Amino acid sequence: MEVNFQIYHYWRSECAMRGEKMKAWVAKMTEEQLDQEAIRKAGEILKSGGLAAFPTETVYGLGGNAFDAEASQKIYAAKGRPSDNPLIVHIARMEDLEVVARNIPDNARTLAKACWPGPLTMILEKTEAVPKETTGGLNTVAVRFPSNRIAQALILAAGGFVAAPSANTSGRPSPTTAEHVIEDLGDSIDCILDGGMVEIGLESTIVDFTEGTPMILRPGSLNRERLEEILGTVRTDPGLLAQETHTRPKAPGMRYKHYAPNADLTIVEGAEQAVVEKIRALAAKQLACGAKVGIICTDETRQEYPQGDVKSIGARSDEASIARHLYGILREFDGDHVDIIYSEAFDTPKMGQAIMNRLLKAAGHKRIEV
Ligand code: AMP
Ligand code: MG
Repeated sequence: MEVNFQIYHYWRSECAMRGEKMKAWVAKMTEEQLDQEAIRKAGEILKSGGLAAFPTETVYGLGGNAFDAEASQKIYAAKGRPSDNPLIVHIARMEDLEVVARNIPDNARTLAKACWPGPLTMILEKTEAVPKETTGGLNTVAVRFPSNRIAQALILAAGGFVAAPSANTSGRPSPTTAEHVIEDLGDSIDCILDGGMVEIGLESTIVDFTEGTPMILRPGSLNRERLEEILGTVRTDPGLLAQETHTRPKAPGMRYKHYAPNADLTIVEGAEQAVVEKIRALAAKQLACGAKVGIICTDETRQEYPQGDVKSIGARSDEASIARHLYGILREFDGDHVDIIYSEAFDTPKMGQAIMNRLLKAAGHKRIEV
């Protein structure tokens, strides 16, 4: 949709006068061909306290001015997100890190040099510039420099500092397309920059630098092995591996039930053929009882499932495709109103940790080993 901004502003004020809900305007573009006018307008919206959704290489973000406490509160309200779950501050110039973080350890700087711009979020001590509303009341701040060029252009147009969680309603899978954002937030935010489907499809890797040895608070496409190559020893938050124990994950967002599809999801793990047979048997039993059954498989096993709502997540030989399609598929199953979903496990070499972390959370840790 091409946006005539004069008409848009007129329509917005008309709607506001009538007390009606306003739909977000949507501007389509690509990283190669930015819509500069839409980016400028979205930047103005952010500067004046409004909300804009934008693509990043990981998932779509819901942005507000990071230094504006009210804008952060609007983000929490739009998502229905608990206000103690902090936002990530997005920057688009390396030197801007100093504005939001202080006492930055050398190894954090080394990691930033190696991985930014990219799917890495670092937890550091915050400066006075960042209001507590943005950090969920914490003295630390999450900072990321995304590589997506639409995101970078918007951040700069907004003054350089954009607080943004994922642009989904709290509890739904993160959005990997602009359509997902429209579905969840189309009525409650000002605009959406539509850059098509994202590249990675899972949220950034979060690394905490505020407690000595760097610690992974959330796995992502930037995996532990790569972090260790750059940093040496790296820990993983014990709260991440614990299922229902007193060990709580440090990142508040990892404590909440997340990414949950409406249907009951169970993961079946083991050797490929045994998994296929188990899922086929479980599905047949449920179908016989009249349940609507969804199956998440791969291109390699697609033909093995004769019945049910069968969706291939991608090729096992191309793990990036599995990561990219995971959230979209969970949303599709919500749309199909299935009662129960069985999924193969995706313990792939590079991204398996991150993929399985999200899938297990979506399944409430329900798994069957065969
Ligand atoms: P989202 O962008 O929706 O993935 O949300 C940001 C994630 O970063 C959530 O899981 C937050 O809990 C986490 N996070 C943000 N700031 C901090 C912080 N200062 N300390 C620990 N985790 C944080
Ligand atoms: Mg999120």
